[in-house]
Amino acid sequence: MQVWDGITGARIEFDWPAEQKGSTIAYMNENLNLTSALLKRIEEVGGVEVLDGQKVEDIVLGEESEDLDLSLWPVVSLSGGRRLAARLLVGADGANSPVRAFAGIESRGWDYGRHGLVATLKMEGSGWGEEESKIAYQRFLPTGPVAMLPMPGKFSTLVWSTTPALAAHLKTLSSTDFIAMVNAAFRLSPVDLAYLHTLAEGQTDEVAWRSQHTDFDMQRVPQQVVRVQDGSIASFPLKLRHADTYIGERVALVGDAAHTVHPLAGQGLNQGQGDVESLAATIEFAVAHGQDIGVHMSLEAYNADRYAANNLLLGVVDKLHKLYAVESGPLIPLRSIGLRAVNALRPVKQFFMSQAAGTGVKVL
Ligand SMILES: Cc1cc2nc3c(=O)[nH]c(=O)nc-3n(C[C@H](O)[C@H](O)[C@H](O)COP(=O)(O)OP(=O)(O)OC[C@H]3O[C@@H](n4cnc5c(N)ncnc54)[C@H](O)[C@@H]3O)c2cc1C
Repeated sequence: MQVWDGITGARIEFDWPAEQKGSTIAYMNENLNLTSALLKRIEEVGGVEVLDGQKVEDIVLGEESEDLDLSLWPVVSLSGGRRLAARLLVGADGANSPVRAFAGIESRGWDYGRHGLVATLKMEGSGWGEEESKIAYQRFLPTGPVAMLPMPGKFSTLVWSTTPALAAHLKTLSSTDFIAMVNAAFRLSPVDLAYLHTLAEGQTDEVAWRSQHTDFDMQRVPQQVVRVQDGSIASFPLKLRHADTYIGERVALVGDAAHTVHPLAGQGLNQGQGDVESLAATIEFAVAHGQDIGVHMSLEAYNADRYAANNLLLGVVDKLHKLYAVESGPLIPLRSIGLRAVNALRPVKQFFMSQAAGTGVKVL
């Protein structure tokens, strides 16, 4: 991983020392592949009825009848017409979670005033080098970080955090001008980029000319982008949110339903996977000890395990965003000294890499 400050050029390079060569810091896994693998696994394991392509239209508390008291159980109505009473309803339904709303759990935070612009790109030449040793790049610009993440073959995925106005403008560009802007984002100065953003069109020629007059190390930026996949450009508003609690009576929240983080550290889905792992262990324990899996007492261990860990990561990522959003003043040289210091200190850097790789002491 190569990460650098767009203003000062201070850089941190994450690579394993020679004796650990071959170790992987992180895997890039496309969501589509992850989802289809999980569905395949559910099918293999069996015992699960999958109701696909249906919307949860309503969640209400059940009723009390002569032989069954469901008055504290959530009852879910599906668009297909089915109604299901849940001993435990797990809200894995994203940032606007209907399950969280049903449980009356508040979610607090703030909007970043930034959009995450994503696209699937094709690179020139050999793309990313050997299949086993691909590099992820992230440059912190004053408007937000721009990241190029490797995918199989010559493809990569772009995550460009920027203001809503600039994201909207980038989406109006022709594909050649869009590609020029992406290449410029990793090479040209923030001043050049600010000017390029004011042009309605013609970025291709302007970037080519400015690149000839800009000094950058070809080895330390991603290869040139040559194509953008049709229909792959999209943008999402970025925000921080954290639910007051992850559990309610017969309800548990996981993933973005519980917390939403700025994508600069690429941790959102990872956090959700950590939640699911912890909730599964909690349920397993409750079942093994003959407890009701839906009651507060059984779910408390999940909340205790994940809340503080997620809160810490949300805070760190939020501070990083704020630190790198500063355009001038004493913070800029200070943050560059910090970045260079970490880069020079092998053990500290290795600690961060172990965290990213999930092999280190589990503090996040
Ligand atoms: C620009 C950007 C880049 C990102 N990059 C990364 C990255 O590199 N790495 C990373 O780890 N994370 C990344 N994230 C974060 C990641 O995308 C989220 O954390 C993750 O998708 C959350 O997963 P989830 O399943 O909790 O929620 P979601 O992905 O939001 O899924 C919720 C699901 O619930 C369904 N749903 C909602 N309501 C209903 C209903 N009423 N009935 C039926 N279904 C419903 C939705 O259709 C959806 O399928 C990024 C986020 C953004 C915005």
